Amino acid sequence: MYLYVYIVLNRWSLEMEKQKSVSALKRKLDKIFSQYIRLHWSTDEGQVRCITCGKRGHYKEFHCGHFMSRGNNATRYDERNCNIQCIYCNIYKNGEQWKFGIEIDRLYGKGTADELVKLSNTIKKWKPYELEELIDIYKKRVKILKDKKLS
Ligand SMILES: [Zn+2]
Repeated sequence: MYLYVYIVLNRWSLEMEKQKSVSALKRKLDKIFSQYIRLHWSTDEGQVRCITCGKRGHYKEFHCGHFMSRGNNATRYDERNCNIQCIYCNIYKNGEQWKFGIEIDRLYGKGTADELVKLSNTIKKWKPYELEELIDIYKKRVKILKDKKLS
């Protein structure tokens, strides 16, 4: 009986550890992915344009906005789902989802926004190794973009 309780608690704490590392890795990937998206769309001088209102400025002062919110795991790191947004559109206007969707279709083809809506409703559970792989990929891409654009 005690052994059983011990095993259950032990397994539970291992699960908790795994969960903790997944959320820490997600936070790390969010940061590097956001940097990648903003540098990808910036000019060689680091200037970007808000996808939903057209406001221009330096990439460090803009956000990486999500069409389907970041809480949806399946589209969280989908490059089509993310683009430059000013703080006003992203925060105060809740992401301007309608306009965002129109721009996504313009960039990637008609029906892409619908596809992302459907995809965002599917279940995706990120595994630590997948997140680690993406962190490595986007770190390299950020470095390439910084060397190319901002040097
Ligand atoms: Zn804006």
